[in-house]
Amino acid sequence: MESPIEVKDNETVESLDFIRAAVAEDTAADRFGRRVQTRFPPEPNGYLHIGHVKAIAIDFGVAKDFGGVFNLRFDDTNPEKEEQEYVEGQIADLAWLGFEPANIYYASDYFDQLYDWAVELISLGKAYVDDLTADEMRAYRGTLTEPGRNSPYRDRSIEENLDLFARMKAGEFPDGARVLRAKIDMASGNLNLRDPAMYRIRHAEHQRTGDKWCIYPMYDWAHGQSDSIEGVTHSLCSLEYEDHRPLHDWYLDQLEVYHPKQIEFARLFITHTLLSKRGLIRLVNDGLVDGWDDPRMPTIVGMRRRGVPAKAILDFIERVGVSKTNSTADIALLEYYIRQELNLTAPRVMGVLEPLKVVITNYPAGQVEWLEAVNNPEDPSAGTRQLPFSRELYIDRDDFQEVPHKKFFRLAPGQEVRLRYGYFITCTDVVKDARGEIVELHCTYDPQTKGGYAPDGRKVKGTIHWLSAPHALNAEVRLYDRLFAAEDPGAYDDFREAINLDSLQIIPNAKVEPSLADAAPESVFQFERKGYFCVDSKDSRPGSLVFNQTIGLRDSWAKIQGKGG
Ligand code: ATP
Ligand code: MG
Repeated sequence: MESPIEVKDNETVESLDFIRAAVAEDTAADRFGRRVQTRFPPEPNGYLHIGHVKAIAIDFGVAKDFGGVFNLRFDDTNPEKEEQEYVEGQIADLAWLGFEPANIYYASDYFDQLYDWAVELISLGKAYVDDLTADEMRAYRGTLTEPGRNSPYRDRSIEENLDLFARMKAGEFPDGARVLRAKIDMASGNLNLRDPAMYRIRHAEHQRTGDKWCIYPMYDWAHGQSDSIEGVTHSLCSLEYEDHRPLHDWYLDQLEVYHPKQIEFARLFITHTLLSKRGLIRLVNDGLVDGWDDPRMPTIVGMRRRGVPAKAILDFIERVGVSKTNSTADIALLEYYIRQELNLTAPRVMGVLEPLKVVITNYPAGQVEWLEAVNNPEDPSAGTRQLPFSRELYIDRDDFQEVPHKKFFRLAPGQEVRLRYGYFITCTDVVKDARGEIVELHCTYDPQTKGGYAPDGRKVKGTIHWLSAPHALNAEVRLYDRLFAAEDPGAYDDFREAINLDSLQIIPNAKVEPSLADAAPESVFQFERKGYFCVDSKDSRPGSLVFNQTIGLRDSWAKIQGKGG
């Protein structure tokens, strides 16, 4: 029991978000025997996305704050959509984020109990086997404004229902031939209570129970009872389950079993981002992205591969907070936290995306000097490293203008600039090929300006990054733009209309400094003046490096805030 929240007075409760306030009250009133137990209940039908982090952070955080228990439970009731790969992937995602569950449970472990309870409901006259087709059932269900009609099979005898349900389980009927339904109220204003299905027939192999079952429980039938079996005290879920709460309550009341308290919170929405596994799997299956871990995906595996630190995700989620009404966070806010974290932690290096050769004509051929460079000005403990300097260098093409714009203070004919950690250089000649393309610059350097400062105190207005050409390593750099041009991709039925067709640009011939030769997969660096880049965990090899752009340096969120937004 680590520093649980103690409710001493109303003030304490008022300073809490509405979920913690409710839990604090329950604890103070000695409901649930002062226990707190939460769970995160994903379906293993895909990888986790950043929306899930909100739910996990709430479940984990509430348990931690009250000295309680946080578990992971897989809602694995839909074998056709679910895979062991996703189970393992989701466990790994949680671990990477730092949320360790006390236990890992599976709804499929309760299939026997759920079956027995279904038989109990039938025996109580509260469930029946229905032979209507799916289309007929839809027609009988009614609409929001019209009540539904009773199925002609609703009044079957208990004996007949017990017999048919046993035969459903035994595999006598094909997929979809019959369902078991709860007998509640076909005129209910809540459509979920109009005799919801409890079991459907699916002759499908389950990743954990194999071919033991050919009937599978519906989500609502499994969910509340799973919470009950585990002794969950506070069943926290997003708002779309609010309408399901009366059904969960009804099941638990009929069965007269332990009854957790369900509390709903707002789902996380982010501009230009799709947050639904069902939606994301379509992007994967339609080949619009390169798998769940494509660095443009809002999945944990995607963001991780992109170089987004877990800390930045968690800081963002904390800032978004817990609320009861849905709202949409600006993606710029997430980007702000990514930059903030990487600015503190990412080592600085030299990387040239579009190399332009520079020959220092007054520097001796064959000579190499090692110049000291600071690894991270935000973190003195990161120390320094040595950068080679030689007669042939690379600079980025956009740091040179043959006819400079008035405010262009970088390299231009006759214009002097500072090479970061190096010397002052002045461009003397522009070498072009037959087509008039610039292929090389000739410059002179001032030997007095080693380290980037002139003893005579003369100033230069521009500082640019550079590499020693013979020492530079080749690298492929992948630049990313947002995957969705549309602000609310969830509003489109066809994602192709919302997608940004230009979200990936591959630069095959970038150059990076030699210290990156052995850079570990997933490590993130700031390429000075260019942004943050992460060693790709799938495709990068020593000798053929691949970097994913995590994010640029510009802080658009600060600008938005500056505008008073
Ligand atoms: P699917 O599209 O397959 O329903 P999902 O993205 O809704 O996927 P689930 O497996 O249904 O994910 O959700 C697991 C848990 O995560 C649920 O408790 C749900 O409330 C929560 N959750 C899912 N998406 C979000 C979100 N965007 N914000 C907050 N919580 C979420
Ligand atoms: Mg869902």
